[in-house]
Amino acid sequence: MNKIVLITGASRGIGREVAKTLAQKGYQIIANYNKSEDQAKKLKEENINIDIYKADVSKRKEVHKMIQYIIERYHKIDILINNAGISESKVFTDVTDQDWNQMINNNLYSAFCTTQEVLPEMIKKKDGCIINISSIWGIVGSSCETIYSITKAGIDAMTKSLAKELGPSNIRVNSIAPGMIDTDMNKFYSNEEIKNIKEEIPLEKIGKTSDIAKCVNWLIEDEYTTGQVISINGGWVII
Ligand code: NAP
Repeated sequence: MNKIVLITGASRGIGREVAKTLAQKGYQIIANYNKSEDQAKKLKEENINIDIYKADVSKRKEVHKMIQYIIERYHKIDILINNAGISESKVFTDVTDQDWNQMINNNLYSAFCTTQEVLPEMIKKKDGCIINISSIWGIVGSSCETIYSITKAGIDAMTKSLAKELGPSNIRVNSIAPGMIDTDMNKFYSNEEIKNIKEEIPLEKIGKTSDIAKCVNWLIEDEYTTGQVISINGGWVII
């Protein structure tokens, strides 16, 4: 039977590209989406091996129902990719409690909750691979994106802790921390700002979603990497 892969936030951007790449390699994908129904339906129509499921992954009940659906239909989950996320730029003193809750729930609670719901199945079969999409900003911090950076640092801490806890169950947990990747998330930047950013990046270009998808594929195939934060950023951040 094909390996079963759940990707959260796969209607657009990085998640969508990861879904397409892994589906072409023969994995059975469950592409989760929330608001972008038309794009999710198109993804399913245009690709074999892709099933779609609507759930707001910041809500425990919806995540629970999604995992139940996958287990009933496919009987297992081999690989989880916690990718869903939002970003917002705001001066720290302007951030409201509502902003805080929205960012924490969408970026961090979602990964906590989805991982918790998936794990019993992985632990039972003593096999699993979890890939969390964090960000360079969780590593080095970002002005006017403090809450976003907090969520991404939290994701990386979860990766490292879970790798230690789940290694004996043969479950590998890793983070991919992208630099700037060409998706809707960066649409608000002007051409001038993009030009300036490119000048700061040693490879002098913005990353493509396929750069991240290739790393996801490698992390799935590899058998001895766990607890790592792999940053794909064109040399923008070197630690
Ligand atoms: P994007 O193009 O804006 O896509 C975001 C995806 O997340 C969409 O498919 C969206 O689904 C989904 N999503 C958001 N909240 C959700 C929720 N509550 N439940 C289910 N799905 C949800 O962003 P992207 O650039 O691909 O980002 C993907 C991940 O990479 C994020 O975690 C982001 O923080 C991280 N990242 C991106 C960059 C970058 O430069 N692009 C850099 C570093 C890290 P719907 O539209 O269907 O709601």
